[in-house]
Amino acid sequence: CYILGIESSCDETAAAVVRADAPCGERVVSEVVLSQLEDHRPYGGVVPEIAARAHLSALQALVAEAMQRAGVGYGDLSAVAATGGPGLIGGVIVGVMAAKAIAMVHDKPFLAVNHLEGHALTPRLSHDVPFPYLLLLVSGGHCQLLVVEGVGQFRRLGTTIDDAAGEAFDKVAKMIGLGYPGGPAVQAAAVGGDPRRFDLPRPLKGRPGFDFSFSGLKAAVRRSIEQMPPGPLSAQDKSDLAASFQAALVDSTLDRVRRAVRHFRANWPQGTALVVAGGVAANAPLRAELTTLAAREGLDFVAPPLKWCTDNAAMIAWAAAERLALGQSDPLDFKPRPRWPLDPDAPKARGAGA
Ligand code: ATP
Ligand code: MG
Ligand code: FE
Repeated sequence: CYILGIESSCDETAAAVVRADAPCGERVVSEVVLSQLEDHRPYGGVVPEIAARAHLSALQALVAEAMQRAGVGYGDLSAVAATGGPGLIGGVIVGVMAAKAIAMVHDKPFLAVNHLEGHALTPRLSHDVPFPYLLLLVSGGHCQLLVVEGVGQFRRLGTTIDDAAGEAFDKVAKMIGLGYPGGPAVQAAAVGGDPRRFDLPRPLKGRPGFDFSFSGLKAAVRRSIEQMPPGPLSAQDKSDLAASFQAALVDSTLDRVRRAVRHFRANWPQGTALVVAGGVAANAPLRAELTTLAAREGLDFVAPPLKWCTDNAAMIAWAAAERLALGQSDPLDFKPRPRWPLDPDAPKARGAGA
């Protein structure tokens, strides 16, 4: 049972073939990811028009390569899937149109996968995680705590009231002069930095609820920089700023997760796992702190391998496999959705987030 997945919602063009009926270590038969990093680097962030054109020029060869590496023909596929949103609409259109065309020509089911559901189900691609699980979804555009009750069944406990976690990493990296993308750069610079040199706030720590906030932390980093003596920041300054910011972000995030675990765990079945997914789930200190928290609270902890935290097509093919197993597919007139919240009761999308 082979499924082709395509991801093109942001600045990675990716294609993958997964085998849905294989055990979890052997599901990804082939995957190719082409990062547009260099195309966007001069602008310090993703430029939508450049992204859409880059997806268009790269996708066809990438899909062919994924198929060839998998050693399967289009006729062997059980379904063809693409990210249907949320994301930059130009890129999403490119991926959706390609998947529809392949599905139509080869008479296969088509699935439009919610990109966030791709992230959210990734832990089940790499590990045997039963539903329900508590998910910290931390990515470039999102920061949410969700109970994943099943495929397509999400109950949102909390979300960011301003910036997403990855967005905060990216913006702070820019302020410190660490370049783009910010997350990996901040993590690297923080090694050898003093996390106590700058006294930064832990937004919402100890407050009721399960929401997140990072804009106050970002502003505090900006003020710290402004209060430094004039002139360029030294390498040590940069390291100390990165370490102080990262520690504050991880600390306030962990506070929210800890609260949710303690508040809801009485209702959870035995064996409910704490799971992290999304690009920021690649952050080493965050993973370490979550591991400790889960151990203290007696929960299993699952984090996907780093390559499946940031955007990839294996997660899209896998989410499609999960939906296909439930008999779901989507019509060929599916319209790409720039906004597409996981939780249907969620309030109106804010900013880039949904
Ligand atoms: P979304 O999934 O919300 O639509 P996206 O697809 O752009 O957004 P992802 O690819 O899931 O986001 O994640 C990218 C984000 O992850 C970027 O903000 C990046 O800085 C961050 N990130 C990647 N690696 C790390 C790391 N090691 N530490 C912290 N942040 C990281
Ligand atoms: Mg990306
Ligand atoms: Fe993503």
